[in-house]
Amino acid sequence: MKAPARPHRLGTHRVIEPAGATPQDAWRIDNTPVAAENEMLCEVDALNIDSASFRQLCETCGFDARRIGERILEIVAERGKQHNPVTGSGGMFVGRVIEVGEALRGKVDVAAGDRIASLVSLTLTPLHLQSVEEVDVATGRVRVYGKAILFESGLWARLPRDIDEGVALAVLDVAGAPAQVRRLCKPGQTVVVIGADGKSGLLSCAQAKARVGASGRVIGLVPDASTASAALLRSAGLVDELVVADARRALETSAAVEAVAPELADVVINCVNVAGTELATILCAKDGATVYFFSMSTSFTAAALGAEGVALDVTMIIGNGYTKGHAEVALQTLRDHPSLRAYFEEKYRCHPGPVKGTERKEKPL
Ligand code: NAP
Repeated sequence: MKAPARPHRLGTHRVIEPAGATPQDAWRIDNTPVAAENEMLCEVDALNIDSASFRQLCETCGFDARRIGERILEIVAERGKQHNPVTGSGGMFVGRVIEVGEALRGKVDVAAGDRIASLVSLTLTPLHLQSVEEVDVATGRVRVYGKAILFESGLWARLPRDIDEGVALAVLDVAGAPAQVRRLCKPGQTVVVIGADGKSGLLSCAQAKARVGASGRVIGLVPDASTASAALLRSAGLVDELVVADARRALETSAAVEAVAPELADVVINCVNVAGTELATILCAKDGATVYFFSMSTSFTAAALGAEGVALDVTMIIGNGYTKGHAEVALQTLRDHPSLRAYFEEKYRCHPGPVKGTERKEKPL
């Protein structure tokens, strides 16, 4: 196979359609698993499918692991990347570097054989899948046998030695949230985290609690208080109050928050994986507050018109998946909270034994 010509640092040379698009907004990209001079080729062991995307896949495939795996193979075959056409979101991968393109050698601190996690979305990552080995419906982790390309501009992180790979994959997928929360929250503030019991919600609560200190308050909002993660929020002191509400019901949600914080919040963080929660999020904020939409299910229109409609002058931030130093902040948040780490290990740790795909002899592409 021939490597693609005229490589661009953003990977635009891989765009097939429409012409003029970038890899992220392209419908289809070239997933040929051969590294151009400024690309990195990786063997992929596992995908962490973005939560909004995985929920949509589960719902349309009846929570059937085999059908979800088939749908992932279909999407990747059609688009050259794991870019869910319904939610528009992707996820990230873990694997091993096979080849560092000639032009990158000596410029990037990585070599063939290193284990890494991608920190750019699968929505722009050329992905060639030979098989889906296992879909874990409980976590969105998908073990695969395949290859991926990272562009010169692509972000990645070396997998930490002290944290299980499955756990690192789960944490790094949502690394933007705790890093951004650390930046947004200040001592003495009241912070509401919606979807507090998911991956990004738990890490955000931990960071928010550390930042607001004893004079501030963190309120976690969950749809169900009987889960292990809701119990952890309380027992580990990650929240001061736990509120139960369905964030798709704006008035009920804001009333539940108002009952414990009549002054409402200085910062509201949205970490849910369902659509239709913009207004509830905005209504938890006091005038002048900051609202951070990390959720991929966020609609710009619903948020903008929702805030205008209730005459709230709030600063709304889109959850950029990248914040400087985000991978290290997220992993350190886990290290700093042993009970949070124990929870993540229980839920996301890799199954014992090697990934099946790496045991197999490679099939011809
Ligand atoms: P997660 O672990 O699945 O957590 C989502 C949480 O939202 C779950 O605890 C869920 O509770 C809760 N939730 C669902 N419906 C709710 C409702 N109606 N009211 C209140 N809470 C509700 O997801 P994650 O991995 O943390 O991701 C969270 C969001 O961030 C997703 O939308 C994901 O796509 C997005 N994301 C964004 C970026 C970015 O770069 N901005 C990167 C990665 C992920 P149950 O489990 O009980 O349903």
